Formats: sequence, structure tokens, C-alpha cells
Amino acid sequence: MPESPSRASVDYETARRDFRWERPEHFNFATDVIDRHAAERPQAPALQWSDESGRSRTFTFQELKERSLHAARFLSGLGLARGDRAFILMPRVPEWWFLVLGCIRAGIVFMPGTPMLTAKDIRYRLEAASAKAVLTDASCLDRFEGVRDAAGVTTWVSTGDAPSPWTRYASEALPESQAVAFPPTRAEEPLLIYFTSGTTGMPKMVQHTQASYGQGHRITGRYWLDLKSEDRHLTLSDTGWAKCAWGKLFGPWSEGACNVVHDFRGRFDPVAFLKVLERERVTTFCAPPTAWRALVLQDLKAVDLSSLRHTVSAGEPLNPEVIETWKEATGLFIREGYGQTETVVIVGMFPSLPPRMGSMGKPSPGFTVGVINEQGEEVADGQEGDIAVRVKPERPVGLFQGYLNDDAANAASSRGDWYVTGDRAVRDAEGYLWFVGRSDDVIKTSGYRVGPFEVESALLEHPAVAESAVIGVPDDKIGQRIKAYVLLTPGHTASPALAQELQDFVKKTTAPYKYPREIEFVSELPKTVSGKIRRAELRATQKP
Ligand code: ATP
Ligand code: MG
Repeated sequence: MPESPSRASVDYETARRDFRWERPEHFNFATDVIDRHAAERPQAPALQWSDESGRSRTFTFQELKERSLHAARFLSGLGLARGDRAFILMPRVPEWWFLVLGCIRAGIVFMPGTPMLTAKDIRYRLEAASAKAVLTDASCLDRFEGVRDAAGVTTWVSTGDAPSPWTRYASEALPESQAVAFPPTRAEEPLLIYFTSGTTGMPKMVQHTQASYGQGHRITGRYWLDLKSEDRHLTLSDTGWAKCAWGKLFGPWSEGACNVVHDFRGRFDPVAFLKVLERERVTTFCAPPTAWRALVLQDLKAVDLSSLRHTVSAGEPLNPEVIETWKEATGLFIREGYGQTETVVIVGMFPSLPPRMGSMGKPSPGFTVGVINEQGEEVADGQEGDIAVRVKPERPVGLFQGYLNDDAANAASSRGDWYVTGDRAVRDAEGYLWFVGRSDDVIKTSGYRVGPFEVESALLEHPAVAESAVIGVPDDKIGQRIKAYVLLTPGHTASPALAQELQDFVKKTTAPYKYPREIEFVSELPKTVSGKIRRAELRATQKP
């Protein structure tokens, strides 16, 4: 794929038709991508970092190369070898990127975790994945008290001074002449292990290869984010989620764009965050729906967002109401992208596609995405089925290798020629995909199937509703009855009259059988640490 700094957005139909996966024998994101940018544009900004205290640093591609050469030498000097697994838990500090690139160079398999994890979560991850090393930040050391006896971990690294067995990591730039040469990694060699978000149950371990994420995310960066080398891209995610790999690592750097990172700790502050977009002159911006829902409640006219070229969303479905509000204020459509920790972006509202409000878009170049039935056959347009990726006769490069140590999950995700995602959708006659829900979340009521998201989106159109979660409650007569947990916007108070008003409102906005027969007002919704609504947790509290 040739690179030209000011190319126009790629035409979707042409890309679908012409795209072929390259399948080189060897691939390494650090040497093949970062070092190439360093050679071609050494002084171009690669990482623009800032934090809440006002500190700010810019690292060029050349610095990124030299600091990751140093990190690779440092890690191998500690005895870590190709194939060893290193658990990395850090806030959004530049060292995370240096160490990760160092691991990639040396073939060390990195396993990101979010700083929100507790000691118990960390122990589970270290032991489940047989980690050999822990890489962390001085601010996270307390999280490891009580896990230091975790079986198999021999190497403990922190960015701060800490007593033995901790070794201090202080980043430096290392000229190439002093660097250790590592043998090239094979494209099929393991690159990283992510834990899924745990929205439906215990997180699963997803293993990616040097190619599946390192190379596969060119789809994300080039076709969906539409990045060019002069872009300043910001994805809102902490370092522990696949979203970070999509939008804060492989996606932007594949295309030589600058990765804008703002290190905030604690709760997401939408007002402060809009100021970051303004100050950093961000050109392309990706956020999860939980953040979008908070952003559109702010005074969007109070900030100058004129630098923005694209805004995108992934991780959960995004309510049309939110897209409309943002568009009114900024003129930009929020384009959705659909994928999983297991994949790169596999369905997206690509820039050249005529947008359809509420649709996730169309299949990515390089992927055949089907909507299939229990027998593994594609269903007719307009009918609901399982979202699946064709893996035979050819497995797309941007798809994980499999779940680690989880035969049941591997079996459940395989059906005939397909990898089954666990999500449900409808494809329309034009080929657009419409998300219905996670298979487990779909509600069966009075013979109808209802995706919680459409009821939540209808509720969100009412000014009193800030956010909601909709589930099916077991019901003797109708199978399941629809129940909504509702969080109100400031200035509105819970009352039976308001509940009635919301029910009437949904009956008018959508088909009446979808209205929630029960409404409960709450002050918080259960979410994963990455901000996704855990409907499974609400279901567990229900009795027939
Ligand atoms: P777990 O697998 O542990 O339950 P998870 O599925 O939430 O957690 P992720 O891999 O972070 O873990 O999320 C992928 C899922 O997020 C998808 O399977 C889908 O349900 C949802 N998702 C992602 N993007 C979109 C989108 N644009 N629209 C609707 N849903 C989306
Ligand atoms: Mg999942």
C-alpha cells in the first residue's frame, strides 16, 4: 500500500474490490512500521502526550524508535526472551508505548491490563496467562501487594524506585549502533494477549499474532479512521483495552499519524476533555458511546472544535439521538465501527459511504461478514441472525488466533465456515448492517424479539433521560417483559408520573410492543471498567 501524505479518503467500493491481504513470512510492527517512519520522516511527531497538571511532551518517530530500541535491550537484559509473556499495567504514560514497542521488537508477548484492576483481578490474569514479567508504573505499585507470590513471575519492573525484587525502568534513547539485533519475528508468531472487556462473563484471553493486530489494523487506521500522516488522532481509552491497540497504537502509527494521548486519572470529565480536543488541535477522534453520551450533554458551542475532520465511535452501539446532537453542534457525523478484541474493525461506516443513521456500516475491506442462522447459512436481507466472519477457505489476517486455554469459547465461536461473534444484526438490501444486540441480551417478549438498544435509544430521545439499560425479566405469560433502568438528566426527579410519561413516549417513538412495562430509576448503571453497560448483571438480580 503506497503512502502519500495528502491522499483523499479511499473509496469504499474500490477498496472492497481491490484489497488483498499481504501475507509476508515475517512481520514486526516495530521494525517494519515504526522504523520505516523513522527513516522517512524522523522528525514527524509520533506521540503527543499531556497530563492533568499541564505537562506536555512530543516524541518524534526517531525518538520512538530509539526509546523502543532501549526498552527492547533493557527487557532482554533482564532475561526476557522471545515468546515470554509480560503483563503490562500502566496509566497513559509514555513509557507504556516505549515498553510495548520494545516487547514487539524482542518478540516478548505483552498482555495489557487496565490500572483499574484490583489485586484479585491481577492475580487472575498473571496466573491464567502464565506471565513471566510484570511491567508497571510507580503509581500502580500498591496493586501488586499481595500478588507478589503469583506463580511463575520472575521479573518485576516499575518506573519508580522500589525495593527488590523490583527493577527500575527509566526510558532513554538508544542509538541504533548500540542496539541489540533481534532475529525477525514470523508474521504468525504471538504478539499480545488481551483480556476481553468481561461484559457477558469472565474476561477471555485473546491471542493475536504479529500480523493479526500489527498488520491487520491498517484496515482500522487507513480505511475507517481515514488517517493521513498529518493527522493528530485521539482515541479515548485507557491502555488496558483492545480499543487502545486499535486507536492509540497500531491504527494511527500504521499510517504515520500523530497519536495524541492525554493522561487523565480518575473519572472522565467531559468538559476538560473537550478542552483537550481544542488545545491539541485533534483532527480525528474516537470515543466509546458511554463518553459520547456525556460529551453531547455539554455546551459544545463553548469550545472550538474546528480542527476536527472525523469523529467515530466503537465498543457499543451509539444512539441516533447522540449522533444528531453532535452533528448539529459540529457538523460532523459520528461514524460507527464494529469489531471486538478478537478482531480489527470488521464493519464500519467508512468515510465514502453515504451515512445511515443508526447503522454500523458495511463490511471492511478484506472481510466477508455474514448474518447467519444456526446451520451456518446466510439469512435473507432484512432477517436477524448472528454476525459472523468467513474463515474458510481463507482466514482474514485481522482476526485473532483463538482464545487461550478455553476450548469451550473456541468451540462456541466456530460454526461451519464462520467465526461467530456472539452479536446479532440485520443486513438491509443495500448491504448496511444494523446491530440488534449481543445474543444474550436480545429480549423475547410476546413472540417478538427486541434488542435492548432500540428501546434505550427511544428512551434517550426524551429530555429527562441521560442513560438507560433495558433487559428482559422472566414472565410467565409473555416469556419476558421489558424493563428499563433509567438514569435521569439533572433537573428531573423520579416519579410514577414520569415513569408513565416515559412509557407513553416509547410507545409513540417505536413499535408499542417495545415499551418497557417496568421502569426503575437509578443513580448509576452497572458497567464494565471500560464503560460498557452490563445488562447481564441487571438480569441476575431479577426473579420471575
Ligand atoms: P466479553 O467478550 O468479555 O463479554 P466484550 O465483548 O464487551 O466482553 P470487547 O471485545 O471489548 O469485549 O467488545 C466487543 C463487543 O462490543 C462486540 O462483540 C459488540 O457486542 C460490542 N461492539 C463493539 N462495537 C460495536 C458497535 N459499533 N455497535 C454495537 N456493538 C459494538
Ligand atoms: Mg466479547
